[in-house]
Parts: sequence; C-alpha cells; structure tokens
Amino acid sequence: MKIKKKCVGEQDKKESPGSGPNQRGMIVAHHGIAVDILFESGERRMVKVKRRAGHVVGDNVIVKNHRLTRLPRRTKLCRRDSRGSVRIVGANLDVLGIVVSPMPMPTPGYIDHAVVAAREAELRPVLVINKCDLEDAQPFVADLTAVYGKILDIFVVSANTGEGLDALTLYLGQGVRSFFVGITGVGKSSLLNAICPSLDLRVGELFTAGNRGCNTTTVSTLHSLPGGGELVDTPGFNEFGFVDISTDDLAGFFPGFEAAMEDHCHFRDCCHRTEPGCAVSKLVESGGISRERYATYLELFDQILAGDARFKIRR
Ligand code: GDP
Ligand code: ZN
Repeated sequence: MKIKKKCVGEQDKKESPGSGPNQRGMIVAHHGIAVDILFESGERRMVKVKRRAGHVVGDNVIVKNHRLTRLPRRTKLCRRDSRGSVRIVGANLDVLGIVVSPMPMPTPGYIDHAVVAAREAELRPVLVINKCDLEDAQPFVADLTAVYGKILDIFVVSANTGEGLDALTLYLGQGVRSFFVGITGVGKSSLLNAICPSLDLRVGELFTAGNRGCNTTTVSTLHSLPGGGELVDTPGFNEFGFVDISTDDLAGFFPGFEAAMEDHCHFRDCCHRTEPGCAVSKLVESGGISRERYATYLELFDQILAGDARFKIRR
C-alpha cells in the first residue's frame, strides 16, 4: 500500500494531526526543512521544522499545535562530515551492520574502527560478509571468522545469489533497528535492495504538496523491512568518526582486547602503548591479537589524542 504524504502548510493546518491533542510519532525521513512522521495512529505526514532543529530519523516525537517535541534518545549514531562537524545519523538504533566483501577488501582497520564506533554509540556491531559467491571468498570468510567469530555475530551472504539472506533477515526481523556501513563497492546498496526491495537508494524521495520549499532530497530514511525490523539508510554514508570517545574508553571498546581488559594491566591508567606490565602487550606478544590490529589501536589512540573527537554535536 502506498502511503500518501502531505507537507503541513498554512492551508491545511486545520485537518492535520498535531493541531489537536498530543500526537506521538516517529521521524521516518528527514528533508531538511520538514520531517516525515509516522504517527501512532498509522498516519504519515510531513511537519515543517527549523533546519538546525537537530531532529533525526528514528527520533520519537510529540506533535501538538504543529510544534514538535523530541523525546529522549536511547542511542544515537554520529558521524563527522567532511568539514569536521558532527552529525547524528540516526536515533534509537540497535545494530550497526558492518558490510565487507572480498572485492574490494576492507581498508586496514576498517572493521575494528567500525566496531569501536558501534560500541561507543551503544549499538551492537554485526559483521556482514557480502559477495560470498565470488571464487576467492572462502579464505576471506575463514580469516574473518577466525578473528571475529567469538566477538561478533557474522552473516555470510550474497546479494547476488541470495545466499545467507534468510538468516540476516531473520536476525533483523527480531525487531531491531539497524544501520549498515561499508566502503564503496562492497555491495551495500545491492544488499539493502535485496532485503528491502522497495528501497530506492540512489534518489531521495521527492514529494509535492503545493508548498514551496518542500521539494528537498531526502537526507535519511527509516524503512520498515518486509521480514520485520527497521533499517535507516543515509545515501553516501561510508565513513564515520569518533565523537565522545576518550583515550581511556578506546581499549574497552576495541574488539579482541576483551580478555586483556579482564586480566588488568600493572598500571590502572595504562594506555596499552609502552607501559610495563601491560595485559594488551602480553596479548600481542602471545599472538592473541595481530600486530596489524594492535597498530590500528595505536592509530585510533593517536587520532583521538590529536583532537578528532573535540567537535561538538550540531544542534
Ligand atoms: P555499494 O557501493 O557498497 O553500494 O555497492 P553496490 O551495491 O553498488 O555494488 C557494487 C558492485 O558489486 C556492483 O557491481 C554489484 O553488482 C556488485 N555486487 C553486489 N553484491 C554482490 C554479490 O553478492 N556478489 C557479487 N559477485 N557481486 C555483487
Ligand atoms: Zn595496558
């Protein structure tokens, strides 16, 4: 069923929800100067907002007299844009799907970085290995399973053949709200189209309701999946940056450090770099974590030290 959308403007204020008693709903798309709200009544309608109001897809809101009040967020996933400003990608998300493929391979440290970002935002990271139909997929899948099998849920899928998609759909269908990241070319769009055929990833939805200024490309959209669960899609989102993370928190979020964190280092405020009696160093020495991945930790540590995390959330 196609849902008719309308932009609440001057002419139709009287008949719109939100003009009467409190109406509770959720933002399902953001168009810059208006948000598309799915109300608890099942009705879906546009409500104008100030451009800088800071509302994002996934926000629960109350609308009364055309004024929108945002309810507290359970989680928020942030990214840093090219100008260094921090933007919230989606609110009340549960899962970060980290999509990788044997071709193109993830850049070094990509998965660890994504896991840290997910954990920082209190999202559950899951690894989605796409293009398992490719000839050279097997060793790639085996390597990743060896490294992350005990740490993350892993889904081995092919958007092309449909292999593994049932398990992924079932997982997402448990009622989770997810967001997928992956470098360009891993098949993220293909995958999202395969699990949600009604998705139109390339062009944001346009809507016309006779109100000037309402025709804006959709920035971010929340889709209900046919098998249950929800998915937030933000066109062009591949990279993410740290926001409120401190160097003290990094090791606790870093995948593969879990055992070392329980072991305790000699110094309570150990940064796991050059300190003696460091449990992480011991883990590296014993081969419990590869030197490449430890190097990723050190790089992320330096990035945070350099002040990458100091940008404030744009309101
Ligand atoms: P995105 O940049 O991550 O959104 O990737 P796309 O979905 O645009 O896909 C990039 C390329 O990978 C396209 O040529 C797709 O046809 C191809 N592709 C996507 N999924 C699969 C898959 O499961 N198997 C294979 N062999 N190719 C795929
Ligand atoms: Zn240490």
